[in-house]
Amino acid sequence: MPHVTDAPAPFWKTKRLEEMSPGEWESLCDGCGLCCLIRLEDEDTGEILATRVHCRLFDAGTCRCTGYAGRKAVVPDCIKLTPGNIEALSWMPKSCAYKRVHEGRGLADWHPLVSGDPESVHRAGVSVRGRTVSETALEEAEDAFDFIAPEFDRERGG
Ligand code: SF4
Ligand code: SF4
Repeated sequence: MPHVTDAPAPFWKTKRLEEMSPGEWESLCDGCGLCCLIRLEDEDTGEILATRVHCRLFDAGTCRCTGYAGRKAVVPDCIKLTPGNIEALSWMPKSCAYKRVHEGRGLADWHPLVSGDPESVHRAGVSVRGRTVSETALEEAEDAFDFIAPEFDRERGG
């Protein structure tokens, strides 16, 4: 006999970003690391371009910030994502969970909240794990122009 449950829908399907608790908000990050890449502005077009260079505080193995709480002291221009600024941050990756929920696209199957597995974002090829170099390895900041990576600006993982 079929068993029917009436489990409540998960929070990311029922709440807007501004309605989420701090814990729900944090858990929405899929750990892709795409927003921790150095981005450059094309002086001619104003276009923001992703590179394969990651921020000095980024751990390329875990795909996480190594000093999130105190990051502003080390990386003053790291932007804190909020429900109020996601719209204005047009360079945020199309696959970003916050952007997806904000735009009503929901979470992908590879999102750890959906799959129950933090590795699923990496298996799906959405994350930057193993694909980046640290900005600390560059001799000059301008060297990041040698690492422009259009693949990180395209939609990833469906
Ligand atoms: S792009 Fe979005 S989902 Fe990915 S690490 Fe940044 S905040 Fe998290
Ligand atoms: S300071 Fe941390 S959260 Fe900010 S860009 Fe760098 S690694 Fe990412």
